[in-house]
Amino acid sequence: MKTSPPLWFEPAPWIDGVWRTADRCGGESVTVRNPATGEAIATVGRADAETVTAAIEGADRAGRGWRAIPAAARGEILKATAAALLARRDEFARLLTAEQGKPYLQAAGEVDYAASFFQWFGEEARRVHGRIVPHPEAGREFLVEQRAAGVAGLITPWNFPLAQGAKKVAAALAAGCTAVWKPAEATPLVALALAPILAEAGLPAGVLQIVPGKGSVVGPVLAADPRVRVLSLTGSTATGSGLMAAAAPGIKRLSLELGGNAPFIILPDADLGFVTDQLVRLKMFVSGQVCVTANRIFVHADHEAELIERLATRIAGLKVGNGLADGVDAGPLIHAAASRDVQRRVEEAVATGARIVAENRSYESIPGLARENFSPPTVVADVRDSMRLASEEIFGPVIPLLSYRTLSEAVERANATPYGLAAYVYGKDLGRLRGVASALEAGIVGVNEWRPLKAEIPFGGVKQSGIGAEGGEEGIREFLETRVISIPKPGVEA
Ligand code: NAD
Repeated sequence: MKTSPPLWFEPAPWIDGVWRTADRCGGESVTVRNPATGEAIATVGRADAETVTAAIEGADRAGRGWRAIPAAARGEILKATAAALLARRDEFARLLTAEQGKPYLQAAGEVDYAASFFQWFGEEARRVHGRIVPHPEAGREFLVEQRAAGVAGLITPWNFPLAQGAKKVAAALAAGCTAVWKPAEATPLVALALAPILAEAGLPAGVLQIVPGKGSVVGPVLAADPRVRVLSLTGSTATGSGLMAAAAPGIKRLSLELGGNAPFIILPDADLGFVTDQLVRLKMFVSGQVCVTANRIFVHADHEAELIERLATRIAGLKVGNGLADGVDAGPLIHAAASRDVQRRVEEAVATGARIVAENRSYESIPGLARENFSPPTVVADVRDSMRLASEEIFGPVIPLLSYRTLSEAVERANATPYGLAAYVYGKDLGRLRGVASALEAGIVGVNEWRPLKAEIPFGGVKQSGIGAEGGEEGIREFLETRVISIPKPGVEA
């Protein structure tokens, strides 16, 4: 059994390079608990509206100095942050598991993933450039410039509290923006843990302010302040829609990574052994609390019975428990309300004709666990499109099976959702895989791959799953503004 590491930072807002301990941050204090055991990890001071405004002011002040640093040198600070994160991988992973609940190996993978964004955008910083466009009139030219937009407000969820922050922080800072980052209420610690790492890597005070706090308090301040020019949120579609409305009067730029309802289509020629392995990994990853997790599994009616048998064997063999214990495949959900919500959806589906065909409640006999926070890995068959289990994001370790007869029917049903974040397709015939992948309305499609996300590629949703992209060369553009100078062309004559 691993342990939660001693904290190397203050559990309080980090503003202008100083910890605003509880008496100086205005808001109330809240205790962060390990969702696996219910144990208190730390009591964190939350920022009130005044503290958030002070953070915006500081970020605005720091902007001029930050942009005066050559882009390549700004990039070096981000790359040094990546190296420092990897050097402290174990401490970050243990803190992440203690705070969020995911198994240690998944947490260590998240540290690597977060570091990859600091590395990527550290490299991208020096590639931001404009261009000269020929003017249609003689003697003039256009200079097209890419400029940092200003202060960025960054808001992140609790499922990947380090990586979601890293994606935004690294891109914003690489672009030359300064930023105010509000981590999720349930997981502020791993965000605050980054502050000393960035400072040691050379980040000047004020360039990144970290303000733990309530969304309903911090969000409106970020949305209303004219100095904040970009708002970047990863969260639910409802929160994104609310933030969009709040930002409308100030015409702010928005980058929104929102909810999903990913289809997972198994073609008739797929290798069901491989599919079972990939599907279980995908669904047990962070116990299904992932925006891109598979939410609706479309299997050909002729293959459903075999898939159920294979899934039942895999589910029975999973180790569910405290993510700090060795060999755990799935940890708890973030809190008891999340677990009750998942349970309700399963019960509703069963009450209207679905069947539970596999379930793993092995954690119930493990002493010391906060059982109310856990949700059993479950396979549900005979799910229909109209059930909430299929029509809404589940956010739990539940595998709903929906059978189909023809591929065109499966694709049509897969697309019949307001969401368009991720999709998966498994099979052997490459031409057909490609055809199905192209027909799916999603920001990213994994073909015979359960985790296609990488720093090198843009990731963002279509339809109600979001606006904009993170990662790739596109990620930095969310924080840049294009402007043009129309100017006489210099010549040699006086
Ligand atoms: P959430 O929308 O409840 O919270 C996300 C963040 O928004 C939190 O920091 C929260 O405090 C903040 N927030 C809440 N109210 C706000 C307001 N009025 N103004 C500004 N900020 C506010 O989502 P969650 O429960 O933390 O995370 C789960 C959701 O996030 C799921 O829907 C999931 O699909 C989505 N998600 C999307 C992606 C993606 O990349 N598209 C990644 C992870 C999670």
